[in-house]
Amino acid sequence: MTIIEDKFLPSHFVNRYEDITVEFLKAHNISAVMTDLDNTLVAFDEADADDNVLKWIQSLEASNIKLLILSNGRHERVKAFAEPHGIDYIDSARKPMLANFHKGLKLLGTKKKNTVMVGDQLMTDVLGANRVGIKSVLVIPVKEKDGWATYLNRRIERVIMKYFKKKNMITWED
Ligand SMILES: [Mg+2]
Repeated sequence: MTIIEDKFLPSHFVNRYEDITVEFLKAHNISAVMTDLDNTLVAFDEADADDNVLKWIQSLEASNIKLLILSNGRHERVKAFAEPHGIDYIDSARKPMLANFHKGLKLLGTKKKNTVMVGDQLMTDVLGANRVGIKSVLVIPVKEKDGWATYLNRRIERVIMKYFKKKNMITWED
């Protein structure tokens, strides 16, 4: 495995978070989901959870799959999204730094091999997951536009995605 694959290749590629069904998770022995917020569950500039997000979260809950939002977003933003629905969260996570991945694993109380990170960015969500040693699912960003802080990450990401494409490593699942 090259360094690029080792650091940035997600375990799975899917179109959107809704493709990560209970069946999908069970088939891969996953009992806990850490998920990014911005451009993974809703657009980065969308404040509230919509019905589809809530439906997805309820389906996980109903199957005893634990959920935690792990977001680099600001405290006020993440809290306003998660708290009204009783979703556990860590804000200002500084992904791909490892500290909050470890904190998240502790909160979830699950083993690394049974935990997955869901996100729309290779440079934060997938890199962090690979470094800490959990599985990862890359989704297509909800909205093409990002916050300004993501601009450089996206440029690097395009180069890495091109590499994966060239090596035929991208297999979309649904
Ligand atoms: Mg994101």
